[in-house]
Amino acid sequence: MIEPFLSAIPVLKRLEDAGFEAYFVGGSVRDYLLNKQINDVDIATSATPEEVKEIFSKTIDIGIEHGTVLVLANHKSYEITTFRTEGEYQDFRRPKGVSFIRNLLEDLKRRDFTMNAMAMDLHGTLIDPFNGQIAIKKRVIETVGSAKERFQEDGLRMMRAIRFVSQLSFSIDTETLKALADLVPLLTNIAVERKRAEFEKMLVGKSCNSALKILLETNLFSFLPGLAKKEKWIEKLLDLEYFGLNKREMWSLLLYCLNLKEKSIEEFLRNWRLPIKEIKDIQHILFFVRKRLEQEWSAYDLYTAGSDIITSTEKIYNVLKSVNWMESTRRWVNTYQELPIKQRSEVAVTGVDLMEWFNQQGGPWVKETLLKIEQAIVEERIKNDKQLIKEWLMTCSQK
Ligand code: ATP
Ligand code: MG
Repeated sequence: MIEPFLSAIPVLKRLEDAGFEAYFVGGSVRDYLLNKQINDVDIATSATPEEVKEIFSKTIDIGIEHGTVLVLANHKSYEITTFRTEGEYQDFRRPKGVSFIRNLLEDLKRRDFTMNAMAMDLHGTLIDPFNGQIAIKKRVIETVGSAKERFQEDGLRMMRAIRFVSQLSFSIDTETLKALADLVPLLTNIAVERKRAEFEKMLVGKSCNSALKILLETNLFSFLPGLAKKEKWIEKLLDLEYFGLNKREMWSLLLYCLNLKEKSIEEFLRNWRLPIKEIKDIQHILFFVRKRLEQEWSAYDLYTAGSDIITSTEKIYNVLKSVNWMESTRRWVNTYQELPIKQRSEVAVTGVDLMEWFNQQGGPWVKETLLKIEQAIVEERIKNDKQLIKEWLMTCSQK
């Protein structure tokens, strides 16, 4: 076995010593078999949340209603979830209530895809009742049991299938794909936040274009915020090579392709329930991308953008120009680094100085003058030196 499983073995052992079953489950087992980097290990156990809390001294309730307890051990944290079934489903969304069970097989059965429905014990023995290993070998995504039923239970699984296409470069099994295409309207009932999590993972996956094709072919895109009837615009992404873009850069690129008006951008992102800070950043990036397509960066634009926004803008600009973004991104960030100042607080003069020098009371003129000074410093028309700025202001006889 390899890390991070090795470090987690004592946790499984503690549960077993207390008389319970415990296994590694879900994405970590799948990624292990794929030789992919394993993010975090999920542990499933026959112990109830209360029993888990009695066994470990440091625990945090993070989703006790779903049976998940966070255990802190060896300076790491582990999500431990009690075996469960998901009872009846309501409105094609979430189960009415989960019931805890003592049986691993039942727990694996409620999982979405065969590749995600395997368990591994502390000796590294795989429990694979649905042939997940074969699916992984064939690189296919297939539901555990009837695709139709599984998607009817939880429509989000359709989006999960597509995001795994993007992340793993797998294809979707024929029957699973057919059910998906038939049932996409069920996504209407799914909470936007859940859709967003899957959509963002899809956007940053290495085979995003393959996933997008399925999104388009199955009409799933019509059930995502702001994307209905936007087929032609989404297709523009398919002509681009955008490897290495992060989440917010992908949102910006998508929005660029959708060709939305300034005003509609915020609404679109709000409908996806993105946090305000991210919305602002994306708007900023798009603003500079559009400007960048017209002209090179000015010193003042670099200054107002800052290095993160410059990087994102340059990456997108080069993707749109089908050029590798590494070099020019580095060059513009360097130019930014060489600016005389990086933020307003570095200006050697304050509003109080101005009021003293001109013997005048405060007012809008202070802000305007400071802005002029700031701009002149950034554009290297004047040095950031108090005395020099004073002389410069006096000779310009400007306030
Ligand atoms: P990632 O590497 O992106 O975390 P993952 O497979 O671990 O991928 P999670 O969302 O973390 O995905 O879910 C953990 C496991 O829980 C999955 O592997 C799967 O077994 C199960 N699971 C998650 N969501 C669902 C769902 N909607 N329906 C059924 N099983 C699910
Ligand atoms: Mg996971």
